[in-house]
Amino acid sequence: MSPRRASPPPDPAESARIGLAGLDAGPIERAFRVETPDESLGALPLPFEYVDIEVEIRKADGASVRARGTLGARATVECRRCLDPTRVRVRARWDALYRPPARVTPGEEGVWVLDAESGELDLAGPIREELWVQAPAWVECSPECPGLCPACGARVAEQPCRCPPPEPDARWAALEGLGGGSADASEGASEGAPEGEIP
Ligand SMILES: [Zn+2]
Ligand SMILES: [Zn+2]
Repeated sequence: MSPRRASPPPDPAESARIGLAGLDAGPIERAFRVETPDESLGALPLPFEYVDIEVEIRKADGASVRARGTLGARATVECRRCLDPTRVRVRARWDALYRPPARVTPGEEGVWVLDAESGELDLAGPIREELWVQAPAWVECSPECPGLCPACGARVAEQPCRCPPPEPDARWAALEGLGGGSADASEGASEGAPEGEIP
């Protein structure tokens, strides 16, 4: 016994398939942890260590089945500025409708094929889709992460280096005096850092 522990992780599962036996009698509820997401769920946006899934499955109109629930996933990814390993958590609600093949219109969102013969519902599709929607495109260890010094590569947050601060480009200083009446247009055109040699 281990008192004062957070609730234990749900039962491990090798796939995201749920048996549908008993669905006629009422909703099926499950909570489980997919421990090999890449193998069980297909190509994912981040190297998730696991995906926790809660699901409630009900019969829907006709021969359809509705599944909805939550997911929680964790990955460790390099911060895009300082390259430190950074933990990413994804939590989301999801909702999916499974229909017999003849009633699925290609391209319809949130609708999946119900393989009635297998007697199982495969949640991999909707879970994978939700992970792609929810996973951050850019990972940063903190919004204030100063990243690496562009000159020496030091992690600026830990060990400020002695590199001189970048010098303002004299050409831009000259341009600032030329603003004139078309300031808006010239600002739009000159967005971004100047390329080329350092004076
Ligand atoms: Zn960082
Ligand atoms: Zn430096």
